[in-house]
Amino acid sequence: IIEKLKRGESLDSLIELPETNIRYTPPQEKTIFLKNFTPGTSLKSLTKFSPEEVITIIKDSRLKGRGGAFFPTGLKWELCRNNPSDQKYIICNADEGEPGTFKDRVLLQQYAALLIEGMTVAGYAIGADRGIIYLRAEYFYLKDQVQNAIEEAHRNALLGKNIMGIENFNFEIAIHMGAGAYICGEETALIHSIEGKRGEPSTKEYFPVEKGFLGKPTIVNNVETLCAVPRILEMGLEKYLAIGTPMTPGTKLLSVSGDCHKPGIYEIEWGMKLRDFLKLIEAENPRVILFNGYAGEILSKIDFDREISGENLLAEHIQFNLNDPIEYSRKMSAVGLRSGGSFMVFNEKRDLLEILKNITDFFVKESCGVCVPCRTGNFLLTKKIHKIELCHADNKDLDEIKEWSTIIKQSSRCGLGKTSTNALLTALLKFPEEFRKCLLADSDYNQAFDLDKAT
Ligand code: NAD
Ligand code: SF4
Repeated sequence: IIEKLKRGESLDSLIELPETNIRYTPPQEKTIFLKNFTPGTSLKSLTKFSPEEVITIIKDSRLKGRGGAFFPTGLKWELCRNNPSDQKYIICNADEGEPGTFKDRVLLQQYAALLIEGMTVAGYAIGADRGIIYLRAEYFYLKDQVQNAIEEAHRNALLGKNIMGIENFNFEIAIHMGAGAYICGEETALIHSIEGKRGEPSTKEYFPVEKGFLGKPTIVNNVETLCAVPRILEMGLEKYLAIGTPMTPGTKLLSVSGDCHKPGIYEIEWGMKLRDFLKLIEAENPRVILFNGYAGEILSKIDFDREISGENLLAEHIQFNLNDPIEYSRKMSAVGLRSGGSFMVFNEKRDLLEILKNITDFFVKESCGVCVPCRTGNFLLTKKIHKIELCHADNKDLDEIKEWSTIIKQSSRCGLGKTSTNALLTALLKFPEEFRKCLLADSDYNQAFDLDKAT
């Protein structure tokens, strides 16, 4: 930004992003986010339900964490509620940074009141009187808008003391700005950051529901998860469960970018076929999809006429069919749907190695540096990819990429390191020809080997 300012670009042009409207794919009555929202609607229902009953509703709704980990929301709340501590906290993780993900930005921009209400319901359920929205630095331009929504909720008595006339139901929300580190989206690093400490993940000796912010039980929920909560109360369980699939009721927001004619945010009903989704976004000769966790796993080669086979990262054999529904299941989780919902499409003209280098480089820059495998391993992997690009690599380099990627996955402390090599590993499994076509011929290899030794 400083460089751009030096070049004379105005601050406004740097911080104003175009508003992206959510495109919806299910019929209107089956949407969750796109309905008009009247603040206070779901809070009214709290007069009928005890905190435990609210938790039961959320558990029965099978709502799972939409940041990407899909941990059952109701269970997380229950664990926090059952903690005997007298002070508890709610943190909304608005540090959206997964490559290709921008759904939470749109929710913050257009549905801040829904988020505030979701946090307030969570406060009632777990017995917390304070919530914090951890807003990523890059979304600074949304801060005033979210702050205005908080003040509006205060004016309407939807925040503050004895909300909805319920005795001792008090709730306040503050915004805490991030400082531009991707790793602070990891919940323990995020909590450290709010506490004024260095934003580094801890080993998970405790989950935040046991010891979180200031050592007190804390739930950390993603923006989309919290926004779904008021809708579930407002619609009622029966209507909500009728949308989506039995395994994953409701809808999901997907952030679509890349080689397609209709990029943007989509609300899809869980269960939509991947094939139909690709048609809907008008994917242009898609070859590779990054339907990602942290890094993006290469899902499949797009071939509309045949089944795709591949191996997941656990080396279990899986068959991935474009007719498979998009839902949270063991199989989809294995192939990439353990993600905040980013969906990047690349066509035939894209250079896969360049994409992989870009992703690996992202993790080199964003690693907090505590663990050697993550800090050094990803750096070395970028060098390997570069070597392949220069056609200086051989089979031994490919073996080392596999071996080192696996070591990084197994020995890193947090999710960043554990998932940083997903794209590279899956690309090696599913697109080996992309790597092999650049390998050295034997004679060249020997020469390069000697050169390496000499260097
Ligand atoms: P995780 O599975 O370790 O934890 C998920 C959540 O469940 C956490 O809140 C954790 O505290 C809670 N939890 C898990 N087990 C628990 C237990 N036994 N008791 C109590 N609570 C428990 O995953 P994570 O490392 O927090 O997150 C990884 C996910 O984040 C990835 O799937 C990735 O896709 C996603 N991610 C999203 C973004 C984004 O911008 N949306 C960015 C980076 C990563
Ligand atoms: Fe830091 Fe990477 Fe270790 Fe996570 S895995 S704690 S980002 S060095």
